Amino acid sequence: MSKTIVFGHQNPDTDTITAAISLAHLIGAEPVALGATNEETQYALKEFGHAELPIIKNIAETGADSVWLVDHNEAQQSAADIKDFDVAGVVDHHRIANFETANPLFYRAEPVGCTNTIIHKLYVERGVEIPANIAGLMLSAIISDTLLFKSPTTTEEDIKAAHALAAIANVNIELYGLELLKAGTNLAAKTESELLNSDVKSFPMGDQTIRIGQVNTVSIPEVLDRKAALIAEMEKENAANGFDQFILIITDILESNSEAIVVGGDTSKIESAFNTPVNADVVVLPGVVSRKKQVVPQLTDAYNA
Ligand code: MG
Ligand code: MG
Ligand code: MG
Repeated sequence: MSKTIVFGHQNPDTDTITAAISLAHLIGAEPVALGATNEETQYALKEFGHAELPIIKNIAETGADSVWLVDHNEAQQSAADIKDFDVAGVVDHHRIANFETANPLFYRAEPVGCTNTIIHKLYVERGVEIPANIAGLMLSAIISDTLLFKSPTTTEEDIKAAHALAAIANVNIELYGLELLKAGTNLAAKTESELLNSDVKSFPMGDQTIRIGQVNTVSIPEVLDRKAALIAEMEKENAANGFDQFILIITDILESNSEAIVVGGDTSKIESAFNTPVNADVVVLPGVVSRKKQVVPQLTDAYNA
């Protein structure tokens, strides 16, 4: 018996988990996860009556002979033993980097705001009906990845797919969307390390390694109350992992603004990237909500200048 598994990236977000579910349903595979779900994703799974996915440590332990990736392609964001397996398919909305296969594969990448927008298209193209609960999960992913269409990563196609999915799931996008996003902002119960690591990625910039985390909140001052403890933890992580600079973006999902705590490295790069001063380890970023579009490219330019 052949076995196909589908999974998204490490530190899973709502898109990664629900894309594994929706794509696995479409292609007749088993969805799995590379880590525990966050509170926002747990809210969506509960709302639409879907069980948590099995968490795997590596591909080998699953006995799978076929692997599909969703919401990522870069090896360092994937399963530890991904290099030992040939990927049969990818559905993704990120840059393609550090990815190669020995054999031909199915690869669908589009520059849209959410993997599930692409998967919605695959269902439509193949004439496959989307079950209401899976439609609700796919909608949750679009709301999450686009911050209710406020992120500059949002495309017309994401909005169109979201409305089609909301009709199937019988959900009011605005009302449900706000509840979903708020479910991910319960930060008080988290340790500093959990705040830093729930949504974090490393980026090579110039000859430096820049670590950029992001948390969503409804009150930036509430997070900044913990600044001293966060900075201590960021210093620890920089020293332990060789990060040159750690940036924690704190995003207000209601106002669509961010402030960031910056620890280590050359703060003049931050100041030139955003054309604003770093004051007491904090930089104010009006209108910034997307790491992918509004932070990484600007900072990469500054480091390469
Ligand atoms: Mg993702
Ligand atoms: Mg995504
Ligand atoms: Mg994200």
